Amino acid sequence: MAAIRIDNLRKGFGSLEVLKGINLDIADGEFVCFLGPSGCGKSTLLRSIAGLEDLDGGSIHLGDRDITDVASAKRDIAMVFQNYALYPHMNVRKNLSFGLALNGMKRDEIDRRVESAADILRIKELLARKPRQLSGGQRQRVAIGRAIVREPKLFLLDEPLSNLDAGLRVTMRVELAALHERLGVTMIYVTHDQVEAMTLSDRVVVLDKGKVSQFGTPLELFYQPANLFVAGFIGSPR
Ligand code: ADP
Ligand code: MG
Repeated sequence: MAAIRIDNLRKGFGSLEVLKGINLDIADGEFVCFLGPSGCGKSTLLRSIAGLEDLDGGSIHLGDRDITDVASAKRDIAMVFQNYALYPHMNVRKNLSFGLALNGMKRDEIDRRVESAADILRIKELLARKPRQLSGGQRQRVAIGRAIVREPKLFLLDEPLSNLDAGLRVTMRVELAALHERLGVTMIYVTHDQVEAMTLSDRVVVLDKGKVSQFGTPLELFYQPANLFVAGFIGSPR
């Protein structure tokens, strides 16, 4: 668990300015959504926090630690992507344990973490199956499990449910909320779906063209939108 602080973060691609000075203070254990239309910079911001982008400026702190120049693998951050890919030739247990084994973790500790994650995600009975023998929702649970076994201080999820059908999306939303409750870990969740953001979050960051348009609780955004962009985006139908 850790708080995260972002100061004046800037990132562009060539002449395209994508993040134009982002400032954010996220509390330890909070569930925060980055919400905004396609192309506003949500994924770039999340990838920057994960250490997957070369920044043009600014700094990122995780707890007391300045992680701006720390390599991605050493940040104690785990990320779940929209187009998560499981290793097709490995069973679920192996999919969960592979990354840990690669880092030289001891067998006992790996087993403990895999069992614990499988228990939390209710995939214990699936550990021997290959990805192709799983439903979409089960695959998504395994993808989240791969992040959980790392026991990260910060969890980043980039539209993890967008490939699932509507019914399953609602179910997984409830499960993610329960997971956050159970792990007590800081989570940042990217979505372009206002309903998802409003139902899941402690607070929502509304992004507009690479800037923070408003950062507040769902109720604040709904009753006191800071500007027309927020009002229109929160109020508009899906
Ligand atoms: P979002 O996740 O909100 O849809 P992104 O962060 O993916 O937005 O993208 C923001 C902008 O940056 C878009 O205009 C996108 O085309 C551009 N972009 C993202 N990644 C790259 C990249 N690797 N190279 C060039 N342009 C990029
Ligand atoms: Mg994106």
